[in-house]
Amino acid sequence: MIVCKFGGTSLADAARIRQIAAILRKDPARRFAVVSAPGKRFDGDEKVTDLLLRAAQGDQTALGAALARFAEISAHLGVGMERELRRAGEEIPVCGADYAASRGEYLCAYMTAKYLRWEFVDAAEVICLRDGTADLEHTYDRLLRRLKPLKNAVIPGFYGATAQGEIRTFPRGGSDITGALVAGAMGACLYENWTDVDGLMSADPRLVENTVCVPAVSYRQMRLLSAMGAQVLHPDSLLPVMRAGIPTALKNSFHPERPGTRISTAHGAKTPCLTGRALESGAALLAALTPEAMELTGKALAALKETGVRPRWLGAWSDRLLLRVKGRCFPEALRALHRALVEEI
Ligand code: ADP
Ligand code: ASP
Ligand code: MG
Repeated sequence: MIVCKFGGTSLADAARIRQIAAILRKDPARRFAVVSAPGKRFDGDEKVTDLLLRAAQGDQTALGAALARFAEISAHLGVGMERELRRAGEEIPVCGADYAASRGEYLCAYMTAKYLRWEFVDAAEVICLRDGTADLEHTYDRLLRRLKPLKNAVIPGFYGATAQGEIRTFPRGGSDITGALVAGAMGACLYENWTDVDGLMSADPRLVENTVCVPAVSYRQMRLLSAMGAQVLHPDSLLPVMRAGIPTALKNSFHPERPGTRISTAHGAKTPCLTGRALESGAALLAALTPEAMELTGKALAALKETGVRPRWLGAWSDRLLLRVKGRCFPEALRALHRALVEEI
């Protein structure tokens, strides 16, 4: 059995939802789907979650825009949502930010389930939260009891409920965590995380050209990359599946035929992967995960010197290099290292 999670861009409009329905129907082992809220359709568009967070602050235009997105998608899919949308419109302005934000995933899962003719299971019933994180024992118990008898179900990502029944969200990008919890609880053989890129790329494709997909990476390496800034997967989504020995496949919902990235305990990355993040001091941390990292030190430093970036060297281990650069030099340093460590190889 496979648990699938679909990110916001994979659910951004009716055509995208039809596409994910085709992915789900293609393999009957794909029994449970966890969905995000509809994301951006084009550059400059707004994610439904951002609209809802503004709506919670009293922005009526944002509320109208969020509800209109659902009305439009559901009309195209031929799914009736009037009652749910009316209720959401009344509750969102008065029930607090977490509740408002959670309605993006709630409505999206409800709509997708109706379209697929699958069961809808509200995350408030099965994801138990304590102090902002999932209470694993109760969550696994509830997930197993609720989902095991079902052939198929769609579950909203990103939120759960406290013991007092209050809706709370995970941090942004948290639908990845819900997907991992469902996979862990159900003992899935695979956790498929469907997104808008081919998998883990050799660097953030928004910043670097000519990136390549990393075919396999170990959980340990992925945790390091997530912690160092690689945004493609939420760092808290790794532990539940890693502990249960379930591999994660990162896949592109726009190109389901492409192989993607496999994250498991077995494989180590052979393709270098670069990432980084801003530090509070205004500097930036740059990390390169690469085989033979120590041997590549000279090459990395020479490539940076050529572009005029003067890094502070933090160290090289067998599989990684770490350095610090001025914040404003970060994109240039990332591109120079990518050219030297990935494109040349
Ligand atoms: P989703 O909405 O499907 O959860 P996210 O936006 O959270 O998707 O994550 C996918 C995005 O992560 C990609 O579109 C890409 O811009 C960004 N990203 C950053 N670093 C990487 C990387 N090394 N490999 C792939 N994607 C990355
Ligand atoms: N919709 C939420 C967000 O935009 C959660 C997610 O997409 O994973 O952060
Ligand atoms: Mg994400």
